[in-house]
Amino acid sequence: MKYEKFGVVDHEHFTIELRPTTKCNYNCYYCTDLHINSNPVYDINQDAIVELVKSAKYNTKKPIHIYICGGEPTLYSKLESLVICLSQELTTPDYITIQTNLSKPLKWLKKFTHALKNNNLKIKLNCSYHNTQETNILGYIGKCLFLKSVSMLGVVSLAFNQRKDVVTDYEKMVEMIGEAYCEIVPLINASVDQDPKKGNNSDHDIDHINNLFKESELEPTGHFFRRTLPYTLGNVEDTVSRNEMWLTRRNNFMGYKCDVSKNKLYVDWDGNCYSCFNYQFAEKPPLFHISMTDKFDNYFSNINCIDCPFKTCFFDLEYLKTYQDKEIDMLPIDRKFNTNEHRSA
Ligand code: SF4
Repeated sequence: MKYEKFGVVDHEHFTIELRPTTKCNYNCYYCTDLHINSNPVYDINQDAIVELVKSAKYNTKKPIHIYICGGEPTLYSKLESLVICLSQELTTPDYITIQTNLSKPLKWLKKFTHALKNNNLKIKLNCSYHNTQETNILGYIGKCLFLKSVSMLGVVSLAFNQRKDVVTDYEKMVEMIGEAYCEIVPLINASVDQDPKKGNNSDHDIDHINNLFKESELEPTGHFFRRTLPYTLGNVEDTVSRNEMWLTRRNNFMGYKCDVSKNKLYVDWDGNCYSCFNYQFAEKPPLFHISMTDKFDNYFSNINCIDCPFKTCFFDLEYLKTYQDKEIDMLPIDRKFNTNEHRSA
């Protein structure tokens, strides 16, 4: 089955996804690749990242969304000064999102949010709830309520998994924090590796949740289950959910022309910059390194679409993919290509 077109044409923001560290203090069974504790942590060159943001904004003519993730980004000791530095360069409708497991104590959160309080920019913390890590639900909700009270709570994503039921916790959170702030997400997309044996069976999380619930029952619980992705297939124009794309394993756009690069740039933990999430895990040179500031304007004023070489599309299903009759060699992805051993070699 070949879609003629898949995904959304217009995206309001240009997103810079920044991973200051691959380290994580949790060890969730389903997250085999997004955390690598053996990699070193480098100081992000703040002058260079500011130049990157300015160049992206000027050349793409779009507002900027900076999405800071990991690893666990709150383990990066200079996160506060990084966010302050970035926020000084940005103005609404630019915004910053930080994706955290919310393991830092309330005291840390109070200090962190206080340091950002004189800022007019929208800065939100999106929180992942990992109940396989003995997280105390009431303590977790208390931190969410604090973030809500200072208008910095984004979305709380509850990781639905095969080992521990999150539905009761989801209901408790909806009741105490509010439905608009809570969502359930399945976990197949936490494992980059193409070999299911390495993902601790996490490739079956998507089947598990769909065996227990119909998609229509899950739809109110989060964006993953809503039919928001448009496609054209023959004479049919319709929409499909991320859930269905993963469940049917149709999230493969190898050979398509993809415009993710026109809307997003990935800045990885060692300063290497890539145009698609998967390139961070592939044996391919980066577009450039963050220190190569003289390359930015040329790149952002002439961004090319990608001829997709990957057989799994993870987080960026929404960016437009157009079918083309073109032979593209498949590029394998594996966490080993994201390790210091490999990168430094
Ligand atoms: S894997 Fe990357 S290049 Fe391929 S369709 Fe997805 S976002 Fe586009």
